[in-house]
Amino acid sequence: MKEANLKDYAKTYEEFDWSKETATLSGLPDGKGLNIAYEAVDRHALGPLKDVLAIRLVRKDHSYEDLTYGDLKKRTAQFANVLRRLGIAEGEKVFSLLGRVPELYVTALGSLKFKAVYCPLFSVFGPEPIFQRLSKGEGAVLVTNTQFYIKKVRDLLDRLPTLKYILLIDVAEDLDDKALSFSKLMKKVSDEFTIPPTQEEDPALLHFTSGTTGMPKGAIHVHKAVFTHYITGKYVLDFQPGDVFWCTADPGWVTGTSYGIISPLVNGVTSIVDEEEFDAMRWYGILEKEKVNIWYTAPTAIRRLMRMNLVPKEKFDLSALRLVLSVGEPLHAEAVVWGESAYGVPILDNWWQTETGGIMIANFPSLKVKPGSMGKPLPGVEVGIADVEGEELVLLTNPEAQGHLVLKKDFPSIFRGYLHEEERYQKCFMGDWYLSGDLAKKDAEGYFWFVGRADDIIKTSGHMVGPFEVESNLMRHPAVAEAAVIGKPEPSIGELVKAFVVLKEGHAANEDLELELIGYARKVMGPAVAPKEIQFVESLPKTKSGKILRRLLKARELGLPEGDLSTLEKN
Ligand code: ATP
Ligand code: MG
Repeated sequence: MKEANLKDYAKTYEEFDWSKETATLSGLPDGKGLNIAYEAVDRHALGPLKDVLAIRLVRKDHSYEDLTYGDLKKRTAQFANVLRRLGIAEGEKVFSLLGRVPELYVTALGSLKFKAVYCPLFSVFGPEPIFQRLSKGEGAVLVTNTQFYIKKVRDLLDRLPTLKYILLIDVAEDLDDKALSFSKLMKKVSDEFTIPPTQEEDPALLHFTSGTTGMPKGAIHVHKAVFTHYITGKYVLDFQPGDVFWCTADPGWVTGTSYGIISPLVNGVTSIVDEEEFDAMRWYGILEKEKVNIWYTAPTAIRRLMRMNLVPKEKFDLSALRLVLSVGEPLHAEAVVWGESAYGVPILDNWWQTETGGIMIANFPSLKVKPGSMGKPLPGVEVGIADVEGEELVLLTNPEAQGHLVLKKDFPSIFRGYLHEEERYQKCFMGDWYLSGDLAKKDAEGYFWFVGRADDIIKTSGHMVGPFEVESNLMRHPAVAEAAVIGKPEPSIGELVKAFVVLKEGHAANEDLELELIGYARKVMGPAVAPKEIQFVESLPKTKSGKILRRLLKARELGLPEGDLSTLEKN
């Protein structure tokens, strides 16, 4: 067992100094500033990692497309030169609408080199969500393929006056003077590019939130965010020389950029990318064959794997695996315990948001894991629990107090704005603190526990009930695979707790089971908190990043408009 990078959490947290800890990053040559792409690619390509695999893409048929750090340096330089040749200006926005293909990585990092702002879109978006984001983000360039272009984008062009070019990755010739061949352009330009001087505060990335609580917001991040990508890679994901890392996140979501692209590269390890979507046996095969050391995935995936009648470590050689990490939603204690026995390694939940740009709270490899907890703050980040009373924010210091999860806003990757929504952005801050919109508790040992999103909290008979607690308890019943809990208005008690439940295979949805579950819930949670209504469903509505859309369940329950559904996963 390798010794973790973070050996003594308390000491590191106490002594942490961002500038000292990031001194190993090189900065642009001749003191010309800090650029994410230089730290992620060029500085390695100019050193001993030149011929090391940066990205190994596993295609549908299991063949590979391998990119070394040296290859990536050249191809991203070419892409930056393409942008220059097209007359794009620094600060303009380059969008991608692609699956996990090499061009996605080249586009992201090449845009950063050029100092364009990169914004990924989910490839499964239909025309309207694509339009909304491209128009709100004033996209200048879109990199996509012919099929997506014809099916989803071409008819929008009249409504997208800022969009200058569409670069198609799968055609050898231009379609017209706007829709151009990516490869043809790449061939015309040099593979050398000098990154222009870049300020730490220059905008780098635009990420739309998942839209779990409403209309997605466009969070802006700057080049300085690379400090967080580097430190979280080192201390949370525990990247060590020679490591093979696999992040399963969709490239259309912030995790797909921060941890699917930037963090592993900045830390000089090899990333595995699987072209395919979730497929349990394929995934286990990849973990085994590619000797993956660190695996970063999401609770929905873990819950799906858990539902299968299979102990992976008995069927597959997972001896290379050192850590499994999870983000995006609360990871229930059951899943942590199951995962440890199924994989034989720690399952580390961690918390962050589009707005924070990188992991902020984590179960660290060298700390005791508390199943069901998000863990402790990243060194360099101050996290608190607070009450908000009018204009005042009061930090709560007594253990177990429930309140708003707030972060001191001075860490490098805090977002610098919501695109075109200044007021909404300002509302997220009170004094030095950023309000995450989530509710949490902190225990006596300094571990943070997720309670729920502020918007999802249920007020019933004078109690504040966090859906996560109720859902976790329901999932401890052997028949329950997944649960989502909402508050349903009820005049006498404010709201009543209603649960939507997906059953495990082999359990029939009938009145007996409903009564049994209600009885069980009352016993373990007490009658004030336990659901009064249970409805069995085949599946729960989720976002494309795997989050349960409780607001949609609630809207349907109340017969209200369903709201923005652009990120709803269709199953
Ligand atoms: P929107 O802001 O548009 O409603 P969203 O908040 O789901 O969407 P993201 O930024 O992708 O968009 O998700 C961040 C949120 O996901 C967090 O604020 C939190 O509610 C939830 N989350 C992420 N990781 C965890 C975790 N480990 N435990 C509990 N919740 C988590
Ligand atoms: Mg959010």
